[in-house]
Amino acid sequence: MTTPTTHPEPGSVLEGDVPPSDPRAHLVSPRTRAALRIQQRILTAARAHLTGRGFTELLPPIIGPVTDPGARGAKQVDIDYYGHPYKLMTSAILYKQASLLAFDKIFCIAPNIRLEPLETTSTSRHLAEFHQIDVEVAGATRDEIMDVAEDLVAYVVEDVATTMAVELDTLGRDREVLTRILRGRFGRHTHTEAARRLGELGHEQSPDAEIDWQAEALLSRAGDGAFFVTEYPKGSRGFYDRENPDNPGVLQSFDLMAPEGYGELCSGSERESDYRTIVTRIRETGENPAKYGWYLELAREGLPASAGFGIGLERLTRYVAGLDHAWEANAFPKVPGMVSP
Ligand code: AMP
Ligand code: MG
Repeated sequence: MTTPTTHPEPGSVLEGDVPPSDPRAHLVSPRTRAALRIQQRILTAARAHLTGRGFTELLPPIIGPVTDPGARGAKQVDIDYYGHPYKLMTSAILYKQASLLAFDKIFCIAPNIRLEPLETTSTSRHLAEFHQIDVEVAGATRDEIMDVAEDLVAYVVEDVATTMAVELDTLGRDREVLTRILRGRFGRHTHTEAARRLGELGHEQSPDAEIDWQAEALLSRAGDGAFFVTEYPKGSRGFYDRENPDNPGVLQSFDLMAPEGYGELCSGSERESDYRTIVTRIRETGENPAKYGWYLELAREGLPASAGFGIGLERLTRYVAGLDHAWEANAFPKVPGMVSP
């Protein structure tokens, strides 16, 4: 019953950093079962919280003619759709914006496929197949959607901490440490402040780039709670993140960092909805707008202004359950580069 396992680079992966090569050992492990029960509770709590606030849950598309190009460094997967080149979804962003034509507040639990670079195998945070709790709200500002993300994460943490004592104990997760983030509002720092803080911590961070995964973990460990990083520079994110009209070159975007070194949980932004600006932004990234046919047609006739975010479900489970690795939060984990069921 063993499955061949391909290690990406000999010596690049520490023992224990990768799932057991025998899927049976992973599935019957008490740790896996506790982690998956906690994940189920996270999903139930997130659905209850969002539907209670007027959100409609939609089922996300899995394939489409085009997908999110903003998956830095990760390769997209092509499929042949009756002779048309289609993609597996790297994120639901384009469909989230479009769905607001039907409902003002939507969410979906969306599977994503990203063939991440092999060096991410040892980050403990990257999977080639993962899920997002994806949320989008028509007419929301960046600050309003950050509050939605904060309330959702806080609700989930409190719910799991009060209902999943047995599973948290099985995993050795200290509930006192977990619930510390509920004592006050999450912190808020700009990207410039985060870059300066990283400099103090001895890590060179370009003011023009996305914060890389080592820096994320460093910041997350140095912080004293969950916190947002806002105002990412243009060029570090997808074309759909809205540029601040009063501060060109800066996006109305944010990440949410977990405490304790768990790193990025969520990315979000106000979205660009103006047709001409979207076309310009796509061109600026070096892509051909013609690829985005259906999306641009909708945008030309009018897409609602919106803001939204995506929380990585396996990453949220890892943080809440205190897991060493995101793959422990998946029954059939796909660690980048490893052959597995
Ligand atoms: P992004 O738009 O790339 O920031 O992705 C949104 C969220 O999905 C991130 O904040 C992570 O929580 C999660 N995520 C992104 N890429 C991965 C990955 N390769 N494996 C697991 N989770 C991921
Ligand atoms: Mg991100």
